[in-house]
Amino acid sequence: MKLTKIGKIVVSLVFVAVVLGIILIWRSRSNIRSIHKMESNEFYDLKIDYDKTGIGKIDDRIADIVRERQDNFIAIVEKSGSVATSKYNLVINGTNVSYKNIKSVHIISYAYTGGAHYTREDISLVYDEKDNKYLNFLDILVADGFNSLLPIIKKSLLEYSNLNNIVLNEEWVNDGTKYSDENYQNFYLDENGLVIVFPPYQVASWADGEIKIEISYDKLKGILKEEYLNNDSNTSIDTIIKPGSRDILQFKDKKLIAFTFDDGPNNSTTSRLLDGLDDYNAKVTFFVLGSRVNNNKEVLKRAYEEGNQIGSHTYNHLNLFLLNDEEILSEVNDTNAVVEDVIGIRPTLLRPPYGNVNDNIKLLSNMHIINWDVDTEDWKLKNRYLIRDKILEDAHDGAIVLLHDIYRESVEGALLAMAELEKQNYAFVTIEEMVQLRGVTLDYDTTYYNFIKGGN
Ligand code: ZN
Repeated sequence: MKLTKIGKIVVSLVFVAVVLGIILIWRSRSNIRSIHKMESNEFYDLKIDYDKTGIGKIDDRIADIVRERQDNFIAIVEKSGSVATSKYNLVINGTNVSYKNIKSVHIISYAYTGGAHYTREDISLVYDEKDNKYLNFLDILVADGFNSLLPIIKKSLLEYSNLNNIVLNEEWVNDGTKYSDENYQNFYLDENGLVIVFPPYQVASWADGEIKIEISYDKLKGILKEEYLNNDSNTSIDTIIKPGSRDILQFKDKKLIAFTFDDGPNNSTTSRLLDGLDDYNAKVTFFVLGSRVNNNKEVLKRAYEEGNQIGSHTYNHLNLFLLNDEEILSEVNDTNAVVEDVIGIRPTLLRPPYGNVNDNIKLLSNMHIINWDVDTEDWKLKNRYLIRDKILEDAHDGAIVLLHDIYRESVEGALLAMAELEKQNYAFVTIEEMVQLRGVTLDYDTTYYNFIKGGN
């Protein structure tokens, strides 16, 4: 076949177009923003989750860090050559925050390679796009700024510990907050202020988890360099102050009932519940599964911001009686970490799956155990009217009601019951609000089933 001149041009153009197309597809594929990797074999589970920033220099650096963590982990697993009491595990998560010209990435890796618990490694990259350089902590402060900042940091830590029932050791706090590159390796700036992350062991015990404080820009004038202050921010909200908190004294003459919802969150059914709660001035408590958090982040955040309480129902809903200590610790700690990533604070309440708890689980978890005394059996009834009737039948002052917000019928049943209970002078409170109104101090030895007046 002989091609005309025009034919040759057409063929060449088509060829160029195909090549360009392939390049574009390849480029868009390599521009995929989210990195998700999961690997599982008989020896280990590995899970990597982070978003790229879109800045090549930072993304390459993150990729290097992640690869190094992964290689180290696999080297340890290969060296040991066998599985310990539980499978080896590596989880790497990255969070990105953009503020002004600053891109911050905080990478946390949790590795279980035997021993009592996970090891955690944190690294933060704070990059100024304007000057094309990484910033360290002192770079964002005026000369001598740290001396004025330190007392503010210590005060924030104290507030955090009071709010979260953590006892801080003064010596640990002094050592963990004095200036060193290592102590101030984990920080970032967002719209509201300067966030400093203290990983476990830096200022508190392992069980107390990481401590994250945010210092608002209005407190940082004359401390932070002018260019990093947010002049648009006229708020002085510290994120450690709970959102949605309300004046509970309005309920002092009411009967109290705590609705609790397990096994969520679920973007669809939990949202429907939140939409309905407003009608009854109701706040509730969610005992969430760590494994469900990442896929239902928005609704979890919303639930918390609207003043509901978030507790833990462990990561995988396993029967804790059948697990060894390491496995129990990871069920508890992984959930607390993933919830904290979304709402900024760590849960203090634990509802063990099936209500199964013993002294060892209490000791390991170091959380307050909240079970229930009104079992709606909603998962069995599967009918909003039957669920409503069951709640109305068993409701009493101080009750803790067990429901599951993953079922539409349970959510509707709860709201129908609230409409009736409201007429009977009930107020719908979180566990925390109930505890405050009943003047109870939660301890770590008791399993709580209700908060009847004068009980406990
Ligand atoms: Zn459950």
